[in-house]
Amino acid sequence: AVRFENVVKRFGDLEVLKGLNFSVQPGERVTLIGPSGSGKTTILRLLMTLEKITDGVIYVEGEPLSHMKRGEKLVTANESHLREVRKKIGMVFQQFNLFPNMKVLRNITEAPVHTLGKSKDEAVAKAKELLDLVGLADKADNYPSQLSGGQQQRVAIARSLAMNPDILLLDEVTSALDPELVADVLDLLKDIATTTDITMLIVTHEMGFARDVSHRVMMFDQGVIVEDGPPSQVMGDPEHERTRAFLKAVL
Ligand code: ATP
Repeated sequence: AVRFENVVKRFGDLEVLKGLNFSVQPGERVTLIGPSGSGKTTILRLLMTLEKITDGVIYVEGEPLSHMKRGEKLVTANESHLREVRKKIGMVFQQFNLFPNMKVLRNITEAPVHTLGKSKDEAVAKAKELLDLVGLADKADNYPSQLSGGQQQRVAIARSLAMNPDILLLDEVTSALDPELVADVLDLLKDIATTTDITMLIVTHEMGFARDVSHRVMMFDQGVIVEDGPPSQVMGDPEHERTRAFLKAVL
């Protein structure tokens, strides 16, 4: 579904990603772990085309994602493909990013109506189904500010699912929540993981959750992949000292 080929990302002099190579297969759930500043969020933001790549190529469904220079060669994404790809990738952020001026239901129906061209009735029916799934059927007419952080995050998850994504990017989605609200959101994500075949790239510090839902864990440090394997190996029996040190610090 996703392939990074020699992906470099710099912010000024700071080289955040140093020539990454990896693939994620359709339906695979991969958790990215590593110390703060190791480039995990940047990987998700590049996939969402929220950041521009410095060098290398990112392929989604076999097509280059963006305009990128690769040595001498300019790899140019096909614009219509890019639009299609963007519709297929959903992202949930640490800070929810709901539209504050729209009621919960409208938050969920907005993109399906305006980006996918769904009818309002169809979008509303789907949104209600999703609100039911995330346990918030009674909050459709509330504004985000009237909800707890955990409820807002569940709305944000429902909103991303309303687009029927093939790929879902989760960026520390429980980090901004009060501790007692974390479990509900993680349980919901586990449910989604086990009942759908959505490809997921997950950045989290919740190691138990990562172990439960991921097929694979990739450990990053200073813009390179230190370790890549099943959670039982990377988290249970890491090969590298940097992974051991990181796990000791977070567990
Ligand atoms: P964390 O776990 O703290 O979120 P991370 O592994 O997700 O860390 P990134 O957010 O990808 O790390 O950031 C990697 C590095 O890039 C950091 O040093 C950060 O300060 C830097 N960085 C990120 N975005 C920008 C930007 N827009 N301009 C300049 N530097 C940036």
